[in-house]
Amino acid sequence: MQSNPLSETAPASTSIPQPSSTPSTSLCTSLLHADSHLNHLFADVAPPLHVSSTFQYSSDPSKLIPAKDASLTFDPSTDHIYSRLTAPNGTRLEALLTSLIGAPSLAYGSGLAALFGAYTLLNPRKVAITDGYHGVHGVLDIFKRLTHLELLPLSRADELGHGDVLHVETPLNPYGEARNVAHYASIAEKTGAVLLIDATLAPPPLQDPFAQGAHIVMHSGTKYIGGHTDLLLGVLATRNKDWFKQLALDRMHTGSVAGSMECWLATRSLRTMEVRVTRQSESASALVNWLEKARSGDGPNKEVVGKVVAKVRHASLQEEAKDEDGWLRQQMKGWGALFALNLKKDEMAKRLPSTLKLFMHATSLGGVESLMEWRAMSDEKADPTMLRVSVGLERWEDLRDDLLKGFEALVEEGNL
Ligand SMILES: *Cc1c(COP(=O)(O)O)cnc(C)c1O
Repeated sequence: MQSNPLSETAPASTSIPQPSSTPSTSLCTSLLHADSHLNHLFADVAPPLHVSSTFQYSSDPSKLIPAKDASLTFDPSTDHIYSRLTAPNGTRLEALLTSLIGAPSLAYGSGLAALFGAYTLLNPRKVAITDGYHGVHGVLDIFKRLTHLELLPLSRADELGHGDVLHVETPLNPYGEARNVAHYASIAEKTGAVLLIDATLAPPPLQDPFAQGAHIVMHSGTKYIGGHTDLLLGVLATRNKDWFKQLALDRMHTGSVAGSMECWLATRSLRTMEVRVTRQSESASALVNWLEKARSGDGPNKEVVGKVVAKVRHASLQEEAKDEDGWLRQQMKGWGALFALNLKKDEMAKRLPSTLKLFMHATSLGGVESLMEWRAMSDEKADPTMLRVSVGLERWEDLRDDLLKGFEALVEEGNL
């Protein structure tokens, strides 16, 4: 039976996707099979791309239910009506995301569109937030204009009240350093605030913020979920059924749904995500380990690295990483594939990307291609000595050799 969720009175899509209940299924397997219940109509092995914005109603007049009689039986896995609500590629992607993240998930047109959806739902009076991805502050500025939203630093999170938001990004862009989710979950518990985790920089299998007490998990799917630098996508996941329904309804009315083409591309991407993210994180950790040893004068290439690199930042170098039983090792199952470097001079940081062959000089992260960005190009507040490095799927030793040649070129150029 079909109802019409596009009408003003009808409920939002009521079929909430649930994570696979077979705990023995490993992540890499479920990323290939958690959408297989949607294969019934087709024989394709690779999922088809559906471009239609609208879908035919039943050809059997006895099955036509007018909008005013809409019931709760709408099944978005088959009863698609109009693609601002649901469409086949989005539903398929959301089945996979739900399995991946372990909570019912919705796909948006971008990471910031997803965040806008979360803040529209929560409409807090106060948000505690410090640093993080610069674009997030643009979203919060819109809410400051529309409401009386007040921002507090995370260090004052205990001043939040019921329904306010504790906004924690971990690991933190652009440094790749982690924050303690369990610590903020305890503050959320005490104050009644909602704990929103921007987990973009460490998707599964690297971390599961729900395990530490997150209420809403957000991803910029543009990064590791997309993974191939060819789509914009945002994701919100929550186990709160009322929130999920309201988010779906708001998404329909704000039109911030992810496009079918993007959902189709992201489905292709998720098939390999566990393998990609695991390898990228290992390669980044190997590079960071090499760089930090050399920088601190202990290990191969210490002369040249010591002349150029002032500081290396990554979760693996945090003090807390030394504690085998500490929160950091409990929270993270890998250190993540993004790290930051400070070079000795602004001019060195400005020039290094142009000397490299394997790292492209561009913003963004999470793709299979390694990127480096002189962060001053996109972030007004960035320290001009800072470079952000996103490690892709090249062999890490090749990336190391490329960096080393670049450092040598800077040293040869002399008095920068
Ligand atoms: C990129 C990014 C966003 C924004 O996502 P878009 O898909 O570009 O809108 C938000 N948070 C973090 C941590 C990001 O890296």
